[in-house]
Amino acid sequence: MKEFVCIECPRGCHLTIDDNLNVTGNNCPRGKQYAINEVTDPKRMLTSTVKIIGADIDRVPVITSVEIPKGKIFDVMKEINKVVVKAPVSLHDVVIKDVCGTGSDIIITRSLEASK
Ligand code: SF4
Repeated sequence: MKEFVCIECPRGCHLTIDDNLNVTGNNCPRGKQYAINEVTDPKRMLTSTVKIIGADIDRVPVITSVEIPKGKIFDVMKEINKVVVKAPVSLHDVVIKDVCGTGSDIIITRSLEASK
């Protein structure tokens, strides 16, 4: 038996799931699916930063384009930490395509001009 707080909407239902994937506490089908996914194939969006050169700050924020398996977060972080971009950069620029074969790109979440 496992317990979660559903994060699919602000209501935050307290979910319980047993070994047979029976879910209780959900107030809609999304909660049931969330609990099943958390047990069978947990995924997360990942936010981080990458090094940038030629800008007024040293790092620029990035995010995965879609959720990635929790088990791949360490490997994805290793790839993110290798990236160095050069200013200027724009919102939604892709810095890694299909990172670690997850089907997710790593994209920039803030535009930055080159320093003057
Ligand atoms: S179970 Fe449904 S209503 Fe409850 S928090 Fe999850 S999405 Fe919202």
